[in-house]
Amino acid sequence: MSQTIKAIRGMQDLMPERKRYYRKVEDAARSIFSQYGFQEVGLPILESTPLFKRLVGEATDIVEKEMYTFDDRNGDSMTLRPEGTAGLVRFVNEHGLAFNQTQKLWYAGPMFRYERPQKGRYRQFEQIGVECIGLPGPDVDAELLLMCRALWQALGIEQSVRLELNSIGDVSSRRAFIDALVAYLSEHVDALDEDSRRRLETNPLRILDSKSAQTQALLKEGPKLEAYLDADSANHFEALCAILDAAQMPYEINRQIVRGLDYYNRTVFEWITDDLGAQGTVCGGGRYDALVGQLGGRDASGVGFAMGVDRLALMLEQRSDQDDPPHVYAISVGESARTQVLLLAEQLRHRLGARVIVHLGAGKLKAQMKKADASGAPLALIVAEDELAAGEVSLRDLRNTGDQQRIKATELVEAVAGLIS
Ligand code: ATP
Ligand code: MG
Repeated sequence: MSQTIKAIRGMQDLMPERKRYYRKVEDAARSIFSQYGFQEVGLPILESTPLFKRLVGEATDIVEKEMYTFDDRNGDSMTLRPEGTAGLVRFVNEHGLAFNQTQKLWYAGPMFRYERPQKGRYRQFEQIGVECIGLPGPDVDAELLLMCRALWQALGIEQSVRLELNSIGDVSSRRAFIDALVAYLSEHVDALDEDSRRRLETNPLRILDSKSAQTQALLKEGPKLEAYLDADSANHFEALCAILDAAQMPYEINRQIVRGLDYYNRTVFEWITDDLGAQGTVCGGGRYDALVGQLGGRDASGVGFAMGVDRLALMLEQRSDQDDPPHVYAISVGESARTQVLLLAEQLRHRLGARVIVHLGAGKLKAQMKKADASGAPLALIVAEDELAAGEVSLRDLRNTGDQQRIKATELVEAVAGLIS
């Protein structure tokens, strides 16, 4: 007995009516990023496993339990990329792009994490990532955030996302804070949730992310990261906030944001929406000044972010943001008209750039007109055998008057141009 084969759990099939929102996000990103001087690069989906272990960090959620890792036929350990920054940093190092130059790059594509699938959380998901290499100042952080705002505006969602910002300081200040945090929490282990107890050993900073109310209450009384910020990091953060203020960019300083990956320092941020329930973070990023050097390259600072395209697409979909309807729905009556309608539609597309849907597969006039109405097109082109014999076709107004006029087929392009402009 044959068994049906289905898609793998957490890997989505995207119907056209959903895929179009993904395209919308990517098109808007492409156009906004070029306004800011960013260039797109292509990166492999498969990388060697040590890249992520070293750069993302052994004790992070991603490396501990979310990676799709396997040995290839040669016995080398490979991982489907769970995020884009590690690969981008490898790319920059491998091609010597951090040496005495700056880079403003972006990439888009699928990422893979073995997580519990739910709305807005999948095992294969799309990210668009942006990274700046070789620029240490707060002006870069600020411009990235301005660019995000421009993108939200282009997508019409700027009222539905908010910016939360923090500085986690440099490595030394973070280490001092972590020591204090561990010392404090070790005295209250019994009050910690199970995850946090484990993290106390592996990745104490992540305890700040804990969802447990009891753990959060405990943290409130504990040491504060901001008290351990080194002076340079504090100045950097202050300068960043000053630029955002000057740009009238609303933000909230959230001292709990630490981000899940090891490589961040100084600025970290998240853009959050209330539209998607628990999966509310649509974009996250920050500074990673040690990462390029860590891979064996010269030291070069870095800062970037990644957005979850699935979540942004869901936001657009929930607004039932309609795709642009066709300008013309073209139908035909009679055998000889079936070729002509295709040729006339070609003229409209090529000469006017119009969106034209041709009713394929013929059918009764009434049924075809029904489809034309449902298409949202303002105009129907009717190509009928008997009219065609006289060199004529009909145009029907579907929106307002419902009027139908007969015109010469040779004047169609001109007539439509006047009606859809
Ligand atoms: P979360 O806290 O939601 O798990 P994260 O901190 O793990 O997010 P990042 O590694 O910062 O996420 O990735 C950047 C963005 O990619 C997230 O803000 C989110 O929009 C998106 N993202 C991350 N994991 C998934 C997933 N499994 N499915 C869909 N989108 C995701
Ligand atoms: Mg996650």
